[in-house]
Amino acid sequence: MSTHDQNPYEIVKKLLSESVEQLGLDESIYHILKKPMRVMEVSIPIRKEDGSVENYTGYRSQHLDVLGPCKGGIRFHPSVTLDEVKALSIWMSLKSAIIELPLGGGKGGVIVNPEDLNQRDLEELSRSYIRKITPVIGPEKDIPAPDMNTTPEIMAWMIDEYDKLRGYNIPGLITGKPIIIGGSEGRLDATGRGVVIHIREAANALNIDLSRATAALQGFGNVGSATAKFLHESGVKVVAVTDVSGGIYKEEGLNIPALLEFIGEGNVIADFKECESISNEEMFALPVDILIPAALENQITSETAPSIQAKIVAEAANGPTTPEGNRILEEKGTFIIPDILCNAGGVTVSYFEWVQNTMNYYWKEERVNKELEEKMIAAFKRVYEMKENKGCEMRQAAYMVGIRHLVLALQARGWIQ
Ligand code: GLU
Repeated sequence: MSTHDQNPYEIVKKLLSESVEQLGLDESIYHILKKPMRVMEVSIPIRKEDGSVENYTGYRSQHLDVLGPCKGGIRFHPSVTLDEVKALSIWMSLKSAIIELPLGGGKGGVIVNPEDLNQRDLEELSRSYIRKITPVIGPEKDIPAPDMNTTPEIMAWMIDEYDKLRGYNIPGLITGKPIIIGGSEGRLDATGRGVVIHIREAANALNIDLSRATAALQGFGNVGSATAKFLHESGVKVVAVTDVSGGIYKEEGLNIPALLEFIGEGNVIADFKECESISNEEMFALPVDILIPAALENQITSETAPSIQAKIVAEAANGPTTPEGNRILEEKGTFIIPDILCNAGGVTVSYFEWVQNTMNYYWKEERVNKELEEKMIAAFKRVYEMKENKGCEMRQAAYMVGIRHLVLALQARGWIQ
């Protein structure tokens, strides 16, 4: 298996095992944490608008609910696998534990390229998937949310289908909903906002002046575009952005507000004017201060890592760095903000959304952003202190902070001594 094809479930198991050992905990903890408590595979046949029938495969993995109900997104992507969904559910458990949210880890996925479906068929697939996983989800059991290629609109179809089945309105079932049906102010931007808070904390720790810093970004979906917006607002010069359509580069810094408007009008990055085009490999190798992978897994590999010059790598995506890529960056002294810390702003505001749904009382955006900021800063501090105390990498420190918190719950419940 090439480094590029690393299996995320194998990667997460190895990291769990190493972190349990480094914390001096019994190996049995690793054996508890490595397996999701429940995994569901579903067959989703849908009749398309053209009359044909296609049968899709979907999954929901619920990792551990000792801290609270499971929580995590649903992704629609052709490369979804059961192992990927399992790994993503473990990462969700660790994220919630690092932030100290009363939630467990869950994740779902459907093997599909949503671009192959028209709007009507996408709605049919979304509704059918949620019908299939209805027995295992619920506001007290497992609360889905958006992830790659899933949007507030898709969340609205899903909750509508669930409400129809149950016979009444249950707003706490899903987060990342449109605001009119119980979504939270600030949720759409939350992951990107959190990423930039962590970048600011890392820059403080490293004495980097953000107002003179440069950044390059891979991915311009929900997370990448919000990250670019907040970086720009913090005075960081975003010089390059790439996505599936191609890449753009401008030494003096891209006009991010204009780019956001351009993309908002339905255009693709590659068509943005007044800049040079750049490949993904070239983007990784740029002499920037901050590099942000905000797309898929396994992007920083033994092939791409050697050319990376950035001082900070902020993992806005889940699992963007392979173990070999990580080793190469660590050897160079790159400061990595690991995914389970870096992108946890999304699930944090999802938690706020679920709290608001439960209270049926809604907060102003200022309150959401303020509480998000507090939680992100506290979590960064916990991980950074662990790194300093143990003299380990940030990724390992994040795993250890998460595991330490989960272990307290396992002890309290009498699973372990
Ligand atoms: N899909 C996001 C993640 O990977 C958000 C999950 C949520 O909001 O529950 O963290």
